[in-house]
Amino acid sequence: MSGKLYIVGTPIGNLEDITLRALKTLQTVDFIAAEDTRVTSKLLNHFNIKKPMTSYFEHNKHEKGNIICQKIQSGENCALVSDAGMPLISDPGEELVKQCYNLKIDIKVVPGPNAAISALCLSGISSGRFTFEGFLSKNKKNRVNHLKLLENEHRTMIFYESPHKLLSTLKDFYNFFGDRQIAIARELTKIHEEVKTMAISEAIDFYSNGAKGEFVIIVPGATTSTENPNYSIDKAVEIALNYEKDGEAKPIAAKKASKITGFNKSEIYKIMSKQQTKGTKSTPI
Ligand code: SAM
Repeated sequence: MSGKLYIVGTPIGNLEDITLRALKTLQTVDFIAAEDTRVTSKLLNHFNIKKPMTSYFEHNKHEKGNIICQKIQSGENCALVSDAGMPLISDPGEELVKQCYNLKIDIKVVPGPNAAISALCLSGISSGRFTFEGFLSKNKKNRVNHLKLLENEHRTMIFYESPHKLLSTLKDFYNFFGDRQIAIARELTKIHEEVKTMAISEAIDFYSNGAKGEFVIIVPGATTSTENPNYSIDKAVEIALNYEKDGEAKPIAAKKASKITGFNKSEIYKIMSKQQTKGTKSTPI
């Protein structure tokens, strides 16, 4: 008889955030498929659980997925865990779950902590409707395409970010979303847990000297009004000048800023040109 795959949520920082059911599952399965066996060892040691482990991560997921499924089909139960939080959420597991479905392997979930939902709950920003966006791509083109799709998103948006890319992501947010009030949740469930709510421009200043820890950024959705209150014509020109500084030709820079802010591209272009003739500098962000 075939065994089961258990998708098990684990703590995102505080080891006490583990459910009784997660512990019981980890104790009773035949083996654990872990994103990083060294990280999961620490968790297992803390709870005095001894269990065979195998690694399952991005670069071995195809071959390992087959092996794990074969073991389950031969009758073994497997717990899938990631380094922190829920597997599959910006973590490995999606392909394994699909493989199990295709092979008609029974799958159970043992829910646990998740950084996105925890940050949303703490943010003070509308939680009625939201969209999880995960990490933005490192590839510039994919990143811009992703952000373009979100310019008019009305739901609250949740992003994951690493400390060394936080500042550049905030700058991109400023260009695409305007100066919205956002919430930045850091080190959730850990000793230095904090949530800062501030305008994107303030966040850029605040983190200009670097950032440490793990971050979730909560961005409120766009307002429904046709006149976007997040922008003024000055802001539109500033965005265009920043595009130009990044290497875009002036007309393209004006067009892009127009698309983001709703201001007329010729108007933006004219003001840009005037400012540059006068030698006025834009405020760098
Ligand atoms: N699977 C995890 C979950 O369910 O939340 C997410 C894993 S993803 C690889 C790691 C990212 O999640 C971090 O870069 C950070 O953006 C966010 N994250 C994880 N733990 C966090 C914490 N304690 N505080 C803030 N953000 C956290």
